Amino acid sequence: MATLKEILIAPIAEEEAAIPNNKITVVGVGQVGMACAISILGKSLADELALVDVLEDKLKGEMMDLYHRSLFIQMPKIVADKDYSVTANSTIVVVTAGVRQQEGESCLNLVQRNVNVFKFIIPHIVKYSPNCIIIVVSNPVDILTYVTWKLSGLCKQRAIGSGCNLDSARFHYFMAEKLGIHPSSYHGWIWGGHGDSSVAVWSGMNVAGVSLQELNPEIGTDNESENWKEVCKMVVESAYEVIKLKRYTNWAIGVSVADLIESMLKNLSRIYSVSTMVKGMYGIEKSLPVSSVYPEAQGVPV
Ligand code: NAD
Repeated sequence: MATLKEILIAPIAEEEAAIPNNKITVVGVGQVGMACAISILGKSLADELALVDVLEDKLKGEMMDLYHRSLFIQMPKIVADKDYSVTANSTIVVVTAGVRQQEGESCLNLVQRNVNVFKFIIPHIVKYSPNCIIIVVSNPVDILTYVTWKLSGLCKQRAIGSGCNLDSARFHYFMAEKLGIHPSSYHGWIWGGHGDSSVAVWSGMNVAGVSLQELNPEIGTDNESENWKEVCKMVVESAYEVIKLKRYTNWAIGVSVADLIESMLKNLSRIYSVSTMVKGMYGIEKSLPVSSVYPEAQGVPV
């Protein structure tokens, strides 16, 4: 006897398994991974979203919870498993897996523990998606981007770190607050290593094309009374403060990663402060004060 579904819906063609156009994988479904996933879904960037973690129950729970939102938003197919075969044919893979800092701990402290995690993860990603772009978010992000590039065998353009994208966003927020304008109307950059060694580029800051350094040549130095330099400190210290208050940071990094992915998938040619390998560019052989992958990371055993 025909089922209710068979009576209601008569297929006119056989369903074929389609290869996704824009499949995005998030490895690590902790606080940061899920914030990335939610932001990616919120912008409808993927036609398939894959989630991977070592925690099977958490994976299943997150997937179920996401599907339960499907009445309210456009939902792509979502797959979740600890087996990397679910990630096959990903265009972009975001890696957020590993340990995070505890209160007061620096990102650099995490390096060896997360290198060990990456030694397992990266080869599996590349096995199933040999043409993907990997966006590293786990910390210390600049070093782990270098490690990812080495472990993956991908060309350097395909192993990118979120770098100072978040630091720049925080800087926009604090500068705009101080100026009483919207963050998108302030223009300025944070370069260098993500976190403690980030650098504010005072010479390039402007509002509506008006250079802040031209208005105040001492801006960012110890010699001026308005203490603009304090804003750089706030960029670094606010991460520690959020971790102290809620144990992790997630919402800002999630939306910043989704913004980066949107630019990549839509070829928007927007400029970001990310981690990338700059050795050989502009005649640089050693180091550069931008969000680059540290040549020093070559000392990290991979
Ligand atoms: P979390 O502890 O909430 O989540 C980490 C997840 O990784 C967990 O679910 C864990 O099970 C999973 N995991 C561990 N080993 C794994 C493996 N081998 N394979 C797959 N999954 C594995 O941590 P979080 O708060 O989500 O932070 C994640 C990372 O992101 C940390 O390293 C943190 O420092 C970093 N982070 C980076 C930025 C940035 O701007 N780059 C900002 C915030 C956090």
